[in-house]
Amino acid sequence: MAAKEDYYALLGVGKTATADELKKAYRKKAVQYHPDKNPGNKEAEEMFKKVSEAYDVLSDADKRAAYDRYGHAAFQGGMGGAGGARGAGGGGFHDPFDIFREVFGRQAGGMGGSGGFFDEMFGGGGGGRAQAGRDGADLRYDLEISLEEAARGAEREISFRRAVACDHCHGSGAEPGSKTVTCPTCGGTGQVRRSGGIITFTQVCPTCGGTGQKIEKPCTKCHGEGRVQKTTKLKVNIPAGVDTGSRLRSVGSGEAGVQGGQTGDLYIVLTVREHELFERHGDDLFCEIPIKFTLATLGGSIEVPTLFGKATLKIPAGTQSGTTFRLREKGMPSLRGRRQGDQLVRVHVEVPTSLSGEQRKVLEEFAKLSGDAPSEPASKSFFEKAKKFF
Ligand SMILES: [Zn+2]
Ligand SMILES: [Zn+2]
Repeated sequence: MAAKEDYYALLGVGKTATADELKKAYRKKAVQYHPDKNPGNKEAEEMFKKVSEAYDVLSDADKRAAYDRYGHAAFQGGMGGAGGARGAGGGGFHDPFDIFREVFGRQAGGMGGSGGFFDEMFGGGGGGRAQAGRDGADLRYDLEISLEEAARGAEREISFRRAVACDHCHGSGAEPGSKTVTCPTCGGTGQVRRSGGIITFTQVCPTCGGTGQKIEKPCTKCHGEGRVQKTTKLKVNIPAGVDTGSRLRSVGSGEAGVQGGQTGDLYIVLTVREHELFERHGDDLFCEIPIKFTLATLGGSIEVPTLFGKATLKIPAGTQSGTTFRLREKGMPSLRGRRQGDQLVRVHVEVPTSLSGEQRKVLEEFAKLSGDAPSEPASKSFFEKAKKFF
């Protein structure tokens, strides 16, 4: 694909242009390149499409924000068509197995809902639908993955049942060798007239469903449906950084359409299992780690598990129980291309529960050296604060 021109440059405005300025700039360009004004001029027609596309994106706050952030990549495979028509065609995607993407993460609504950014990312191929027939249904597959898989990305193979075009009749529903004939009920018009008293009205022909044709001999394999149920295996590439509620879409992996209708899509809805060690807060991971009281007192370093292997954490001398340390960029990768999250480690100081005679002696010696009376709270400042309650 050739490099695309900058949308702002196409409209001749700056990045900070207001909605009003954009509108004015677009009108000027649209009038200049309008096909009616430039009959037969391919270049003008091309420009007209380009400025329309640019305005289509920049006039929509969501799309504009996405464009500012990701450039044309925000609409890969999306905006190619004239006028930004929306359809389920999936425009620029050619390999349905290669386009798994996180769709719109946690804020996703119901399955059928199509919210702003989603459509722009994946819908809007080239224009409307040309074919008649019934489109195949979209399918949903719930997939549970581990936190490790969510952190590193993963490839999983899933298998599911779906309706595919019948290979015996190639989706036509007619037994090979038999013909489709003009529907005897409607005579090929697809409509029948009914009269109720003095009123006559037309309705879709119940025999042929409006196609005007009837299958002479239905396919013996699919009984005229044109589709059969089949188990499909699919490799799913899970990008690093996904979270519970993230959805991946595989264009064309849903149910086959009927009579030339389009094939639906498959949506994979992810659930990330809870981890026994890490708790996730957005892109940050949180864990709690016990340390010995001698380490907390004297300082040193410990090895800490992360999702990406071990890391060394320095414990400064005099660390208090409950102190949280931050391991930079050891958290979850960001799906949106932001900085990787951090791992937060909260230490809790372990007090020995049994002491040998010698350990006890040394500690008593330590207490004496510190001037500690056995019944006194450890911190003077705490004692001061607590005093007013007595
Ligand atoms: Zn068949
Ligand atoms: Zn008919």
